[in-house]
Amino acid sequence: MEKTVDLSLVVPCFNEAGNVQRFQEEVMATFASSGLSYELVFVDDGSRDGTLSALRTVYQAAACPVQVLSFSRNFGKEAAMLAGLGAARGELIALIDADLQQPPERVLDMVRILQAEPQYDCVAAFQEKRREGAVQGFLKKTFYRLINRFSDVDFVENASDFRTMRRPVAEALLSMGESHRFSKGLFSWVGFSTKYIPYQARARTEGSTKWSLVKLFRYAWDGILSFSTAPIKIAIYLGLICALLSAIYLVVVLVQKLAFSIAVPGYATIVCLILFLGGLQLFFLGILGEYIGRIYIQVKQRPPYLLKEHLNWSDPNP
Ligand code: UDP
Ligand code: MG
Repeated sequence: MEKTVDLSLVVPCFNEAGNVQRFQEEVMATFASSGLSYELVFVDDGSRDGTLSALRTVYQAAACPVQVLSFSRNFGKEAAMLAGLGAARGELIALIDADLQQPPERVLDMVRILQAEPQYDCVAAFQEKRREGAVQGFLKKTFYRLINRFSDVDFVENASDFRTMRRPVAEALLSMGESHRFSKGLFSWVGFSTKYIPYQARARTEGSTKWSLVKLFRYAWDGILSFSTAPIKIAIYLGLICALLSAIYLVVVLVQKLAFSIAVPGYATIVCLILFLGGLQLFFLGILGEYIGRIYIQVKQRPPYLLKEHLNWSDPNP
């Protein structure tokens, strides 16, 4: 029989060599007197800075049960979380970053909530105060407004993927076989009752964030495409409006010509209209292309990640 634990901490790591050891120490200090059995499931997402050897050291030291999954290259945090969820043994499963920005004590709080309140299946943390500029804050607000308007599921503002869930929730997430994984949406899509608790993100001490403004934009766009077909519908409405306007204009031109014999000199109008409509058509062709591209990727059924190595504390001969 496979050994199980009360709690698995799934930790995606990309270039976090300076953090993994400290992360483990802090988790062990936090959970020492909790009476919980737990394991750490590190997923090395194709790091290029010696994270894997740091993880091997942590595994071999065997200070607590540790799994190390290592990818053949960088597949992204979503893939890393998916792999970690699949390998986790715990009755409860927590997702937490390796950089210690998300305090392990909060995981303990989440576990206590799940133990005390059986009506909840998941506890998610959201950042109370964010250190971000006005522009970024505005863009984020706009993103949530758009996506909540246009998609069927509810996106909770500022909710992170820092959360602890019961096993059925993890199974539900694993059962979703989409290759473009947008976890904020997947978490809401699977449902279950989620309690939100605030937390204060700490500053990063080692390594650097993997997010840039461009990456955030791409991420937001990804989310909208993954959970809504509104962009294609906009094309239908715009197309209808254009057709209607041009029909009205046709009548106007005809009346001018027949009743007042005004021959309309329309060079500028025609050039503008051709450019405008051509641009609009190309734009929506592009949007259609985005969806088709996703279908293309999905039907190829490539795995979301490839494992190079799996070190597992519960293997009979490690
Ligand atoms: N991460 C990952 N793969 C990636 C990018 C990030 O596994 O391609 C991990 C990273 O190591 C960290 C977590 O995802 O544990 C969050 O990343 P980061 O700290 O850069 O994001 P932020 O906290 O700035 O939102
Ligand atoms: Mg971070």
